[in-house]
Amino acid sequence: MFERIAIVGVGFMGGSFALSVKSALSCQIFGVDINPQALERAKGLKVIHEGSTNIKELRSFRPDLVVLATPVGTFESIAKDLKECLSSETVVTDLGSVKGHLVYTVEEILGSKFVGGHPIAGTEKSGVENSVEGLFKGKRTILTPTQRTEGEALEKVKKLWELIGSKVEFMDPFLHDVVFGAVSHLPHAVAFALIDALLLLTKRTGIDLFQYPGAGFKDFTRIAASDPIMWRDIFLENRENILEAIDCYSSSLRTLRELISEKRVEELTQYLKEARENRLRIE
Ligand code: NAD
Repeated sequence: MFERIAIVGVGFMGGSFALSVKSALSCQIFGVDINPQALERAKGLKVIHEGSTNIKELRSFRPDLVVLATPVGTFESIAKDLKECLSSETVVTDLGSVKGHLVYTVEEILGSKFVGGHPIAGTEKSGVENSVEGLFKGKRTILTPTQRTEGEALEKVKKLWELIGSKVEFMDPFLHDVVFGAVSHLPHAVAFALIDALLLLTKRTGIDLFQYPGAGFKDFTRIAASDPIMWRDIFLENRENILEAIDCYSSSLRTLRELISEKRVEELTQYLKEARENRLRIE
């Protein structure tokens, strides 16, 4: 399948992918990262065999697969650097949380052997030291082929995900961004904003409210401990969809505010009942 795999961005996701692939496939793994400490840690943890801070070293490694696992805002410039280092046979894929225009931008640079991908697995943790072998087992991976994507490259990437236990689904890149803008990017925005609101309330009341959160608050805001750079890039790359989702959320919150403020007891009960029923439907 693939024998020489390069991971660009040896953090939590790149590291988890490397560990999962290494345990399923006999291959050499080369890591590229701007942070030399991440590479040292990755080597120490046996996540990668070799690594470099210089992407140009991929010329001599000659990978048959390159996996982009950096924050999505870096993809375009990394793709431009990669173009000069890869043979025309190399397949490139990514683990990024945004697809849409970004897939077409990277495809424009790298050509038809680029296959957009997004594993629906992860945590709020970052860094290679938190990598998990088996992170993708039983989890979905969305692949976002375009009209141009080469069939053979797509099939090979799909097989690799299946080999590490993931369930592959195909989706249009733009549809992906609408769906995950709503079910993933919006909840992260809300969690970050909720912490910000608690900071404002702390200032207003003069009480350190961060001393008092219970289990509900902790559950709800766990994802606000996620990496700021990664989420900055996701919000900016999926700007249109996240703005629409935030507007929709603001409208729901305004309705809730009105129902409470005007003591519309029945409508308030109905609002909460409907929310509860739909939440229970997920399980
Ligand atoms: P991370 O911060 O753990 O790792 C990112 C790594 O990329 C770091 O080691 C960093 O030094 C390196 N890096 C940054 N810019 C670079 C550059 N220009 N060149 C080379 N290396 C660079 O982040 P992560 O959680 O592993 O996320 C990586 C990607 O996976 C992101 O695109 C994110 O959207 C996607 N993703 C994350 C999750 C998750 O739960 N964390 C889930 C699905 C998809």
